[in-house]
Amino acid sequence: MSDFVIAIDGPSGTGKSTVARKVAASLGAGYLDTGAMYRIVTLAVLNAGIDPYDDDAVAGLLATLAFVSPTDPDAQQHLLDGADVGGAIRTAEVTSAVSPVSANPAVRAWLKGRQQELAAAGRMVVEGRDIGTVITPDATLKIYLTADERVRALRRHTDTAARTAGDVETVRASLALRDAHDTNRAHAPLMAAADAVVLDSTDLEISQTVEAVLTLAAERGIR
Ligand code: C5P
Repeated sequence: MSDFVIAIDGPSGTGKSTVARKVAASLGAGYLDTGAMYRIVTLAVLNAGIDPYDDDAVAGLLATLAFVSPTDPDAQQHLLDGADVGGAIRTAEVTSAVSPVSANPAVRAWLKGRQQELAAAGRMVVEGRDIGTVITPDATLKIYLTADERVRALRRHTDTAARTAGDVETVRASLALRDAHDTNRAHAPLMAAADAVVLDSTDLEISQTVEAVLTLAAERGIR
């Protein structure tokens, strides 16, 4: 199959980004991390001193934003106004402000256009919260990746231990809060598409999850 989209959605800490990137690399496909796009907008909001909950002010900033979202799974360089912000978009400040920014309908509408344009290139693995439901509802394969909250918190804690001081319980609480926010928002909430395959990664290594996705892809003619 020449063109395809694999949509991978799910809550935080499931290993979604790593899995999506490895699946893309294995298939020689592009990879789009839509969470990083919401994080870049959030970073710009914070840099501008705008309140993340001020929907109008945040919407007003959009037209001034110049950022580049990479689609090469092996070279993920996120640029905001020409500067590499790969580290800056993963700080605790951005992580705690990203949910209100991403609940803003103007932000979602603006990013939706960009995400659909990038996904239309074909042979793409697109990862986020609303990919199978809103961004690419005709995706060739939709995966909803989950894992027990405690396991997700442990994974996130291991990933971020070098950068943040929080213990596992703090990480779990922040993750639960973000998931609640993402699930309960009015526009494009986090949820599995009706035709998504739900994959529980609680007891799986990353490599096993990647294998499971590649098997499902092959069943749909994606290789
Ligand atoms: O995937 P990541 O944890 O980097 O996503 C950061 C945040 O971006 C999520 O908590 C969510 O608020 C938002 N997001 C979204 N829709 C997407 C991807 C991410 O609302 N498709």
